[in-house]
Amino acid sequence: MTYDFAIVGAGFAGSVLAERLATQAGKTVLLIDKRHHIGGNAYDCLNEDGILIHQYGPHIFHTNSPDVFAYLSQFTKWRPYEHRVLASVNGQLLPIPINLDTVNKLYGFDFTSEELAEYFKSVGEPVDDIRTSEDVVVSQVGRDLYEKFFRGYTRKQWGVDPSELDKMVTSRIPTRTNQDDRYFTDEFQYMPLDGYTRLFEKMVAHPNIHQMLSTDFNQVKDQLSFDQLIYTGPVDEYFDFCYGKLPYRSLRFDHQTLDIPDYQPVSVVNYPNDHAYTRITEYKKLTGQEHPKTSLTFEYPQDEGDPYYPVPRAENADLYRRYKQLADELENVHFVGRLGTYRYYNMDQVVAQALTLYKKLVGADSLHDVV
Ligand code: FAD
Repeated sequence: MTYDFAIVGAGFAGSVLAERLATQAGKTVLLIDKRHHIGGNAYDCLNEDGILIHQYGPHIFHTNSPDVFAYLSQFTKWRPYEHRVLASVNGQLLPIPINLDTVNKLYGFDFTSEELAEYFKSVGEPVDDIRTSEDVVVSQVGRDLYEKFFRGYTRKQWGVDPSELDKMVTSRIPTRTNQDDRYFTDEFQYMPLDGYTRLFEKMVAHPNIHQMLSTDFNQVKDQLSFDQLIYTGPVDEYFDFCYGKLPYRSLRFDHQTLDIPDYQPVSVVNYPNDHAYTRITEYKKLTGQEHPKTSLTFEYPQDEGDPYYPVPRAENADLYRRYKQLADELENVHFVGRLGTYRYYNMDQVVAQALTLYKKLVGADSLHDVV
């Protein structure tokens, strides 16, 4: 059979496009993924003890986009959840992003918000041209807080010093002078009530969508027949790495279940300075599941393995631009998603990007018209 669209990758990018094209535009879609499941990196499942875990690390949904929220709400009910993270520093568990309580507890101060703002001014080191991840933090909160909360974590996460990383990495994390200890401040902060995989199952359950899992597109592409291709895998792989490999940072996930009901005070604790892992996630604190045991994931960053994080350095952006030029020349192939456009995107951003591509494919005027 000839499909209207073949879609490579059943993560948010591929699944949103499959859903819209099948249900709204009446197109036939072949949805291919080399993994044995849909959901991409947001996939969750019950482990052998019946605890819902995220196979590829913790995924917390947050967005400021009413359109994205309304769109996804067609496929799930939600559990209100505001993410809070603690960092283990000097034997204490302290709020991150850095806020009033972080500084007061760490140094034994009793600052007000105004006094903390003055303190940041006095310890912040002026940087004329903020270019690196180190510049961002040191200019805002000074060297000691940078060393204690950011330097070690960033070195573990990226394998390079923050002084060699684009400013965008640490710019994502705000500094606060109040006691707000939420990790995100977005208007919509929820977890899908029955998990992400259920959300994906509802999204792609349509007779026009044919799933082909455990299948690498590269192995079968010559046997497939389709009019247009939507590609959410790595863009460099599509072009046989003709300009060289785009670098990614990967992770090893060590999933463990303990025979105790409760392990840590919040769902995620960061370890900027100790241990080889960056953070520990306790899933019951994300999902609200009741269970006599608890499941954790320890994350170990590494170079080899599945591509997770595009490495934000100027030379990699240049290399990506060359691949993008090739991609732009292909009329019936569309690159989308985190790997297809070599950019760190949160889930909501990928959903918006996919809806935007759908809007373009069907010639709609606004995002609002297509959700
Ligand atoms: P993916 O989910 O990666 O899907 C791409 C799919 O393509 C994969 O399933 C892959 O198997 C498939 N594929 C690739 N090549 C081929 C091929 N040749 N043939 C067949 N299939 C192929 N976002 C948030 O909003 N909140 C969070 O808390 C959050 N936490 C994260 C934590 C971690 C550890 C990571 C790595 C990411 C996190 N994200 C988070 C980001 C989120 O995972 C992404 O935004 C989202 O998964 C991107 O969707 P995607 O469809 O672009 O890519």
